[in-house]
Amino acid sequence: MKRALFPGSFDPITLGHTDIINRGLALFDEIIIAVGINSQKKYMFSLEQRMAFIEAIYKDEPKIKVASYGGLTVDFCQSVDAEFILRGLRNPADFEFEKAIAHTNRTLSEIETVFILTAAKTSFISSSIVREIMQHNGDYTTLVPPEVRP
Ligand code: ADP
Repeated sequence: MKRALFPGSFDPITLGHTDIINRGLALFDEIIIAVGINSQKKYMFSLEQRMAFIEAIYKDEPKIKVASYGGLTVDFCQSVDAEFILRGLRNPADFEFEKAIAHTNRTLSEIETVFILTAAKTSFISSSIVREIMQHNGDYTTLVPPEVRP
């Protein structure tokens, strides 16, 4: 069973995230979408809300599970028996950041990080841009799945 963890803040989940998840389904038997709990971060959506959006989107997809976690990603991978971490890459800045994390995780564990390059049409989307538009009552509906509503 090839099980991958897709970790992130998902504040909120966007069409960029779902593009990576949907394409990851061709590679893995199960993907656990792991919503991070970080006491240092200020979120727009509560943990419950962030998880509820994802659960609604994937309610008919048995290969997707939703979980929350704090602490080290590799420790959570081990606790749910996931051998892979799935991440999306949008641009060189993502690459540099992700490279350091993937190397670090590799020194801490045997877990392999698998990167999927974002689709051109969703590569500009970020949760922070979506939050900005929501805060100013703009039209964010083309950037997120229909289940995501403030
Ligand atoms: P984090 O707090 O870890 O940055 P995010 O929720 O922002 O969490 O992102 C989780 C993962 O989704 C990361 O691998 C990130 O690169 C990827 N991702 C975010 N936005 C996009 C996008 N538009 N296209 C592809 N991947 C994306």
